[in-house]
Amino acid sequence: MEIQVKDISKIYGTKESQVAALAHASMTICEGDFISIMGPSGSGKSTLLHIISGLDRPTSGSVLYGDTDIHSGKDQELSAFRRQKIGFIFQQFNLLPVLTARENIMMPLLLDKKKVDADYLQELSEFLGLKNRLSHLPHELSGGQQQRVAIARALIAKPDIIFADEPTGNLDSRSGGEVMKMLCSIREKMNKTLVVITHDSCIAKMADRRFTIIDGELSEVSAS
Ligand code: ADP
Ligand code: MG
Repeated sequence: MEIQVKDISKIYGTKESQVAALAHASMTICEGDFISIMGPSGSGKSTLLHIISGLDRPTSGSVLYGDTDIHSGKDQELSAFRRQKIGFIFQQFNLLPVLTARENIMMPLLLDKKKVDADYLQELSEFLGLKNRLSHLPHELSGGQQQRVAIARALIAKPDIIFADEPTGNLDSRSGGEVMKMLCSIREKMNKTLVVITHDSCIAKMADRRFTIIDGELSEVSAS
């Protein structure tokens, strides 16, 4: 499914405390694209990714998945759409601390009262090196393991598109490298669209299409 981001702006706050986080951002994400978005801290990267993935609403502009404008519907519809179509990976993992790794991974399906495909869960946890960690709580896992649990959670509902917001930002370079390698090979093997935010130019260069964002202005870096 093609995603069209059309003239998105985001203003936080009101009156004197207004912050223009994003100005007239547009991009088209094609099926199977591997896109990186790079920019300094505070430039609007997370804001953009949250709006494209439906975690937040734009002040103006639209985001179309195929023919569907995801921001024209109700919050409930948007949440359901997100759980079924989109995998999101956060810098801070965002695992629920009282749930085991297995329960965290299954969460998106439980919320939709869907059955877990046990073979697929097995395949994912083997691929991500989590097979012997599924009954552990997040605090019993290393940062790299926690992020791999978060990747499994992002994939469990078999979404076509994965968004990752600085997925290696909280990891040392070795486990960060592992996480990126896994994301890249998952994308290839499972035919996913992948959009990664980073401020690491090495990671940005792994992508087929690169964008930069500076002071809320998004632009595509042409291949050289
Ligand atoms: P990045 O991810 O590139 O570091 P963000 O998208 O998080 O940047 O933030 C862009 C700008 O918007 C920053 O100036 C930030 O302070 C501001 N901002 C982000 N979220 C909020 C919010 N909820 N309320 C007010 N300002 C915000
Ligand atoms: Mg951010």
